Amino acid sequence: MSKIAYVNGRYVLHRDAVVHIDDRGYQFADGVYEVCEVFRGGLIDEKRHFDRLAYSLAELQIVAPLRPEVLAVVIREVMARNRVDNGYLYVQVTRGVAPRDHVFPPKSVRPSLVVTARQIDPEKSAETARKGISAVTTSDLRWKRVDIKSISLLPNVLARQLAREQGAYEAWLVDSDGMITEGAASNAWIVSGAGTLITHQIDHTILRGITRTRLIEIIAEQGLTLEERRFGLEEVYSAREAFVTGATTLVMPVVRIDGRQIGTGTPGPVASKLRAIFHDAAERT
Ligand code: PLP
Repeated sequence: MSKIAYVNGRYVLHRDAVVHIDDRGYQFADGVYEVCEVFRGGLIDEKRHFDRLAYSLAELQIVAPLRPEVLAVVIREVMARNRVDNGYLYVQVTRGVAPRDHVFPPKSVRPSLVVTARQIDPEKSAETARKGISAVTTSDLRWKRVDIKSISLLPNVLARQLAREQGAYEAWLVDSDGMITEGAASNAWIVSGAGTLITHQIDHTILRGITRTRLIEIIAEQGLTLEERRFGLEEVYSAREAFVTGATTLVMPVVRIDGRQIGTGTPGPVASKLRAIFHDAAERT
């Protein structure tokens, strides 16, 4: 089956899906994106993802390309045309096409919208979660507004490449005070020796992960203790468990960081349980 993408009002074959060289996404990474999990034919926490898209757009003063109810129709059409029932949906909005100039183009320039969807075998992710992943730590070189889900991801790209070269899956980013902010494409969590879950507090130095937000609700329902605060490498290395969260990884146990075994070196009970119950607690639409 040929893959189909939505590009600025048209459903086109994926191989023919192109944007103009003067698109500000291409020229300046002047745009934002969202990634939403597709699970058993539905979208996980759709409203929260599209509220965050609206936030990212507003923070960058980019006009929403479609009304939310129209975007919801386009998204479902892309899922249907690609027959995606497990996988993820990708939405990207840029400030549009205009002759290259840093200053915003005139208001008449329409934002560009691209929607794609990809089928993923859920068993692959489940298998990875049974083994756990490795992470390495590296400097957080990103800008000071990573709460905006911008397509400008060069530091994230470099961090993940470094991880790959070191045989790891994810990179945990370390700020100038030696504190972990988050993963290059995920939020970072540890479970202390006392069983307390710890993740960085919400501010402009991390992305407010939708999976993170949902998990915080699940943690409360489970009667577990949570601290939203900064944590450093010493706490990481002595943690009982570590894991990351994200729309495509869900709750993914991290069993090695910088080559050191975390806890028993196998996925811990807290992360495994939270992963197992996640979909029942999340909203599917
Ligand atoms: N932090 C960063 C830097 C990310 O890129 C992502 C997801 O891509 C997340 C956190 C997790 O966010 P979410 O749970 O909304 O996927």
